[in-house]
Amino acid sequence: MTATAPREEQLWSRCAGCASLLYRKRLRRNLDVCPECGEHARLGAPERLRQLVDPGSLRLLPDRLPEADPLDFVDVLPYPHRLTGARASTGLAEGVVCATATIGGHPVALAVMDFRFLGGSLGCAVGELITRAAERALDDRTPLVLITASGGARMQEGALSLMQMATVSQAIAALREAGLLTVSVLTDPTYGGVAASFATNTDLVLAESGARMGFAGPRVIRQITGRALPEGFQTADFLLRHGQVDMVVQRRSLRGRLMALLAATRAGRPARSPVPRQEPASHRERLADDGTVLARPTDPAAEGDAGTPAVRDAWDTVRMARHPGRPTTLDYLDSVFDGFVELHGDRLGADCPAIVGGVARLAGRHVMVIGHQKGHTTAELVARNFGMASPSGHRKALRLMRLAARLGLPVVTLVDTPGADPGVSAEEQGQAAAIAENILTLTVLPTPVLAVITGEGGSGGALALAVADRVLMLENAVYSVISPEGCAAILWPDRSAAPQAARALRLTAPDLRRLGVVDEVVSEPSTAAHDDPAETAQRLRAALLANLLPLLDVPPAMLVRLRRQRFRRFGANRVGARAGLR
Ligand SMILES: [Zn+2]
Repeated sequence: MTATAPREEQLWSRCAGCASLLYRKRLRRNLDVCPECGEHARLGAPERLRQLVDPGSLRLLPDRLPEADPLDFVDVLPYPHRLTGARASTGLAEGVVCATATIGGHPVALAVMDFRFLGGSLGCAVGELITRAAERALDDRTPLVLITASGGARMQEGALSLMQMATVSQAIAALREAGLLTVSVLTDPTYGGVAASFATNTDLVLAESGARMGFAGPRVIRQITGRALPEGFQTADFLLRHGQVDMVVQRRSLRGRLMALLAATRAGRPARSPVPRQEPASHRERLADDGTVLARPTDPAAEGDAGTPAVRDAWDTVRMARHPGRPTTLDYLDSVFDGFVELHGDRLGADCPAIVGGVARLAGRHVMVIGHQKGHTTAELVARNFGMASPSGHRKALRLMRLAARLGLPVVTLVDTPGADPGVSAEEQGQAAAIAENILTLTVLPTPVLAVITGEGGSGGALALAVADRVLMLENAVYSVISPEGCAAILWPDRSAAPQAARALRLTAPDLRRLGVVDEVVSEPSTAAHDDPAETAQRLRAALLANLLPLLDVPPAMLVRLRRQRFRRFGANRVGARAGLR
């Protein structure tokens, strides 16, 4: 960057948020975030790169392109004059700086937009440079990281600038097809054609704290609608609430977040880290770290001998499965997994709190974990809608499943839901289709899928996360086509017959193991999961590893074939005759 401002202005600058006069060096040390109010000042592309990439790793990509003024555009100034002015004031050739670098040792290609250059507008040169960065990522088989800051398409290049939305998107699609991660980081402001293309059609969308993003700007919307806009409209937090971004990140955490995401998504391909060879799961016992036999999965007929005596009454098990102290998905993410990075949003308008998901590590191996989230207190339960996913929750899960498959990450699902959200708006938003789409997608998902029924496995809402290569079930969990109360209300005189219904439904782990609906029962501590969450976590972790590792060596096409066979076998002649399980 060339700074030509007088010395006084270099020493001090005024915060746009709180108007404090700040010592320039101190501000820069704080990554241009106001120490008084937290306002994130806009960064030029060179400074942004300095903050993000490993020192010494930056290699700028060529930025000189043939001069273009395709329309001979003149407003109050001829377009070439504006370009010359922008170059002089920024020291940049164009409104984007592209490079290769490493971030925490992970090689990436980067394109960083610079709002100072004609408002970060997307012209033909900017589109071409970002496309070349994407192509470089494809050649190098590295992820692509886009840092966006733009008012939209560059008007001076007319429809040709509009075409850049398609050009760059096509390059992103090629990366997607190749299973390479694309990440965009929205910085303030990101609008118009950039927002409606590569800022949001990447695999992961992060928003820097304080960033605003939208298609139409607030002024335009106010003019057209004649109405005041909601508080915080189009801000990062607004975007998170409406399912548009995976996370909002403070600038000081951005590099660390990117490192974690790059580490997680690099794991799946192309080369896998060494995995201890294991016999196929069906040929051996599951051992805990200390050698204890956790379950003996070989023969359904021999069920009941694996530390899971089926003496507890089904209704007691139902109450156990619903116990408020029972570990939740977030508890397991803390105890069974490491390094969970939550990803948010369905990209269609919402972020369902009843479904949580993101990348995490299981014994050093990266996986995508998706689960229903309940809670331990009434307030938590209400906030999470009692673990009942809305259509947007299922769509969030779908997005994460597909992303996992593209990146070669195994999927682990943790199922704990009374069922899908039974509300009116859920119906209006296509609850049935959302569940159906997940079930279908899971039947063809070309990556290992491991499901665990950890608490309540309630009907279609549970199945939407449980079409898996291996289905495990905690000893005191239940899995059922309908709740015992619901069943009692329909088939018995009233709901007080729920205990009888619970017995009739064969919803306990040993029953379902016998029916082949679940492959393995994970025993709980002699008391119950909620009395010894740490021990439960340890057992679950061992079971997950024992079941997951053998799946990692199965080619994706074979996985899909076997998974379909697994679910094909529940035909009328097998299960229907045995237990009336529908
Ligand atoms: Zn401030």
